[in-house]
Amino acid sequence: MSIDLIEIYNRLLNRFGKQNWWPAETEFEIIIGAILTQASNWRNVERAIINLRENDLLSPKAILGVDENKLKELIRPAGYYNEKAKKIKAFVRFLHENYDGNLDKFLGLDAEKLREELLSIYGIGPETADSIILYASNKPSFVIDAYTKRIMSRLGLANEDTSYHDLKKFFELRLPKDLEIYKEFHALLVELGKTHCKVRPKCDECPLNDICESQNERDI
Ligand code: SF4
Repeated sequence: MSIDLIEIYNRLLNRFGKQNWWPAETEFEIIIGAILTQASNWRNVERAIINLRENDLLSPKAILGVDENKLKELIRPAGYYNEKAKKIKAFVRFLHENYDGNLDKFLGLDAEKLREELLSIYGIGPETADSIILYASNKPSFVIDAYTKRIMSRLGLANEDTSYHDLKKFFELRLPKDLEIYKEFHALLVELGKTHCKVRPKCDECPLNDICESQNERDI
Protein backbone atom coordinates (compact mmCIF):
# COMPACT_ATOMS: atom_id res chain seq x y z
CA MET A 1 0.00 0.00 0.00
CA SER A 2 1.37 3.43 -0.85
CA ILE A 3 1.03 5.88 2.03
CA ASP A 4 1.42 9.61 1.60
CA LEU A 5 3.27 11.20 4.53
CA ILE A 6 1.40 14.46 4.02
CA GLU A 7 -1.87 12.58 4.41
CA ILE A 8 -0.61 11.14 7.70
CA TYR A 9 0.48 14.61 8.78
CA ASN A 10 -2.91 16.11 7.94
CA ARG A 11 -4.81 13.39 9.75
CA LEU A 12 -2.70 13.88 12.89
CA LEU A 13 -3.05 17.64 12.67
CA ASN A 14 -6.82 17.36 12.30
CA ARG A 15 -7.05 15.05 15.29
CA PHE A 16 -4.59 16.63 17.72
CA GLY A 17 -4.31 20.24 16.50
CA LYS A 18 -1.11 22.31 16.39
CA GLN A 19 1.38 21.33 19.09
CA ASN A 20 3.50 24.52 18.88
CA TRP A 21 6.74 22.90 19.99
CA TRP A 22 9.26 23.47 21.55
CA PRO A 23 7.86 24.63 24.91
CA ALA A 24 10.66 27.01 26.03
CA GLU A 25 11.39 30.70 26.52
CA THR A 26 14.85 30.82 24.88
CA GLU A 27 17.04 28.87 22.47
CA PHE A 28 19.35 27.92 25.32
CA GLU A 29 16.44 26.52 27.29
CA ILE A 30 15.54 24.38 24.24
CA ILE A 31 19.08 22.99 24.19
CA ILE A 32 19.03 22.23 27.91
CA GLY A 33 15.59 20.61 27.51
CA ALA A 34 16.82 18.52 24.57
CA ILE A 35 19.64 17.11 26.71
CA LEU A 36 17.51 16.64 29.84
CA THR A 37 14.74 14.83 27.97
CA GLN A 38 17.05 11.99 26.93
CA ALA A 39 15.46 8.82 28.42
CA SER A 40 13.14 10.96 30.52
CA ASN A 41 9.56 12.17 30.41
CA TRP A 42 8.84 15.83 29.86
CA ARG A 43 7.11 16.43 33.19
CA ASN A 44 10.32 15.55 35.04
CA VAL A 45 12.38 17.68 32.65
CA GLU A 46 10.12 20.64 33.41
CA ARG A 47 10.80 20.30 37.13
CA ALA A 48 14.55 20.37 36.46
CA ILE A 49 14.20 23.44 34.21
CA ILE A 50 12.17 25.25 36.86
CA ASN A 51 15.01 24.57 39.34
CA LEU A 52 17.53 26.03 36.89
CA ARG A 53 15.34 29.07 36.26
CA GLU A 54 14.87 29.72 39.97
CA ASN A 55 18.66 29.70 40.34
CA ASP A 56 19.25 31.99 37.35
CA LEU A 57 21.10 29.26 35.52
CA LEU A 58 19.40 29.34 32.14
CA SER A 59 22.31 30.93 30.27
CA PRO A 60 25.55 29.45 28.90
CA LYS A 61 27.65 31.80 31.07
CA ALA A 62 25.81 30.87 34.27
CA ILE A 63 26.04 27.13 33.56
CA LEU A 64 29.74 27.49 32.74
CA GLY A 65 30.36 29.02 36.15
CA VAL A 66 28.16 26.80 38.32
CA ASP A 67 29.61 24.02 40.42
CA GLU A 68 28.89 20.66 38.75
CA ASN A 69 27.60 19.10 41.98
CA LYS A 70 25.10 21.92 42.38
CA LEU A 71 24.02 21.43 38.77
CA LYS A 72 23.50 17.72 39.43
CA GLU A 73 21.25 18.44 42.39
CA LEU A 74 19.14 20.93 40.45
CA ILE A 75 18.58 18.62 37.47
CA ARG A 76 18.07 15.51 39.60
CA PRO A 77 14.29 15.35 38.80
CA ALA A 78 15.12 14.68 35.12
CA GLY A 79 16.95 11.43 35.97
CA TYR A 80 20.46 10.29 34.96
CA TYR A 81 21.55 13.57 36.49
CA ASN A 82 25.28 12.72 36.82
CA GLU A 83 25.56 12.04 33.11
CA LYS A 84 23.30 14.89 32.10
CA ALA A 85 25.22 17.42 34.20
CA LYS A 86 28.41 16.33 32.38
CA LYS A 87 26.67 16.70 29.03
CA ILE A 88 25.34 20.17 29.80
CA LYS A 89 28.77 21.25 31.04
CA ALA A 90 30.38 19.77 27.90
CA PHE A 91 28.02 21.80 25.71
CA VAL A 92 28.71 25.14 27.37
CA ARG A 93 32.46 24.46 27.45
CA PHE A 94 32.38 23.70 23.73
CA LEU A 95 30.45 26.90 23.09
CA HIS A 96 32.88 28.92 25.19
CA GLU A 97 36.01 27.45 23.62
CA ASN A 98 34.87 27.48 20.00
CA TYR A 99 32.32 30.28 19.67
CA ASP A 100 33.30 32.70 22.46
CA GLY A 101 30.16 31.59 24.29
CA ASN A 102 28.08 33.20 21.53
CA LEU A 103 25.02 30.99 21.08
CA ASP A 104 23.59 33.07 18.21
CA LYS A 105 26.82 32.65 16.27
CA PHE A 106 26.75 28.89 16.87
CA LEU A 107 23.07 28.47 15.97
CA GLY A 108 23.61 30.64 12.89
CA LEU A 109 25.79 27.98 11.24
CA ASP A 110 24.27 26.22 8.25
CA ALA A 111 22.38 23.07 9.22
CA GLU A 112 25.00 20.63 7.96
CA LYS A 113 27.90 22.28 9.79
CA LEU A 114 25.79 22.77 12.92
CA ARG A 115 24.88 19.06 12.96
CA GLU A 116 28.52 18.09 12.50
CA GLU A 117 29.54 20.36 15.41
CA LEU A 118 26.73 19.14 17.68
CA LEU A 119 27.55 15.49 17.06
CA SER A 120 31.17 16.16 18.05
CA ILE A 121 30.06 17.27 21.56
CA TYR A 122 30.00 14.73 24.38
CA GLY A 123 26.49 13.42 25.04
CA ILE A 124 24.82 14.78 21.92
CA GLY A 125 23.54 12.08 19.56
CA PRO A 126 21.47 12.38 16.36
CA GLU A 127 18.06 12.86 18.05
CA THR A 128 19.32 15.60 20.39
CA ALA A 129 21.27 17.27 17.56
CA ASP A 130 18.28 17.29 15.21
CA SER A 131 15.98 18.60 17.97
CA ILE A 132 18.39 21.49 18.55
CA ILE A 133 18.73 22.24 14.82
CA LEU A 134 14.97 22.12 14.26
CA TYR A 135 13.66 23.91 17.33
CA ALA A 136 16.54 26.12 18.54
CA SER A 137 18.18 26.98 15.23
CA ASN A 138 14.94 26.92 13.21
CA LYS A 139 16.28 24.89 10.30
CA PRO A 140 14.47 21.89 8.82
CA SER A 141 16.16 18.72 10.09
CA PHE A 142 13.69 15.92 10.75
CA VAL A 143 13.82 14.42 14.24
CA ILE A 144 13.41 10.68 14.77
CA ASP A 145 12.57 9.34 18.21
CA ALA A 146 11.39 6.04 19.66
CA TYR A 147 7.70 6.90 19.07
CA THR A 148 8.37 7.69 15.41
CA LYS A 149 10.23 4.41 14.93
CA ARG A 150 7.45 2.42 16.55
CA ILE A 151 4.67 4.13 14.59
CA MET A 152 6.45 3.86 11.25
CA SER A 153 7.22 0.23 11.88
CA ARG A 154 3.60 -0.57 12.79
CA LEU A 155 2.36 1.34 9.75
CA GLY A 156 4.57 -0.94 7.66
CA LEU A 157 6.86 1.88 6.51
CA ALA A 158 9.97 0.82 8.43
CA ASN A 159 11.42 -2.12 10.31
CA GLU A 160 12.35 -2.11 13.98
CA ASP A 161 15.98 -2.17 12.84
CA THR A 162 15.75 0.68 10.30
CA SER A 163 18.56 3.08 11.20
CA TYR A 164 18.07 6.61 12.49
CA HIS A 165 19.69 7.98 9.35
CA ASP A 166 17.52 5.95 6.96
CA LEU A 167 14.28 6.89 8.72
CA LYS A 168 15.27 10.56 8.79
CA LYS A 169 15.98 10.42 5.05
CA PHE A 170 12.66 8.62 4.46
CA PHE A 171 10.81 11.64 5.86
CA GLU A 172 13.05 14.28 4.34
CA LEU A 173 12.82 12.84 0.82
CA ARG A 174 9.01 12.76 0.94
CA LEU A 175 8.13 15.99 2.72
CA PRO A 176 8.36 19.56 1.47
CA LYS A 177 11.38 21.19 3.18
CA ASP A 178 9.08 23.28 5.34
CA LEU A 179 10.16 24.27 8.84
CA GLU A 180 6.65 24.34 10.29
CA ILE A 181 5.73 20.93 8.87
CA TYR A 182 8.94 19.42 10.26
CA LYS A 183 8.31 20.95 13.69
CA GLU A 184 4.66 19.99 13.88
CA PHE A 185 4.99 16.54 12.34
CA HIS A 186 7.54 15.40 14.92
CA ALA A 187 5.44 16.77 17.78
CA LEU A 188 2.29 15.13 16.37
CA LEU A 189 3.98 11.74 16.09
CA VAL A 190 5.03 12.05 19.73
CA GLU A 191 1.41 12.86 20.63
CA LEU A 192 0.15 9.82 18.69
CA GLY A 193 2.76 7.66 20.41
CA LYS A 194 1.73 8.88 23.85
CA THR A 195 -2.01 8.69 23.36
CA HIS A 196 -2.64 5.81 20.93
CA CYS A 197 0.43 4.03 19.56
CA LYS A 198 1.64 2.91 22.97
CA VAL A 199 3.37 -0.38 23.75
CA ARG A 200 -0.20 -1.74 23.89
CA PRO A 201 -1.74 0.31 21.08
CA LYS A 202 -5.24 1.77 21.22
CA CYS A 203 -6.00 1.26 17.56
CA ASP A 204 -9.78 1.68 17.65
CA GLU A 205 -9.56 5.45 18.02
CA CYS A 206 -6.33 5.98 16.08
CA PRO A 207 -6.66 8.38 13.12
CA LEU A 208 -4.39 6.09 11.08
CA ASN A 209 -6.07 2.75 11.75
CA ASP A 210 -7.45 2.26 8.22
CA ILE A 211 -3.98 2.62 6.67
CA CYS A 212 -1.99 0.80 9.35
CA GLU A 213 -0.39 -2.46 8.32
CA SER A 214 -0.43 -3.90 11.84
CA GLN A 215 -4.20 -3.23 11.96
CA ASN A 216 -4.75 -4.88 8.59
CA GLU A 217 -2.75 -7.92 9.70
CA ARG A 218 -5.02 -8.26 12.73
CA ASP A 219 -8.10 -8.11 10.51
CA ILE A 220 -6.96 -10.95 8.21
S1 SF4 B 1 -3.57 1.81 14.19
FE1 SF4 B 1 -2.67 1.14 16.13
S2 SF4 B 1 -0.64 0.31 15.63
FE2 SF4 B 1 -1.35 1.53 13.87
S3 SF4 B 1 -0.48 3.58 14.20
FE3 SF4 B 1 -2.54 3.59 15.11
S4 SF4 B 1 -2.27 3.01 17.26
FE4 SF4 B 1 -0.36 2.48 16.16
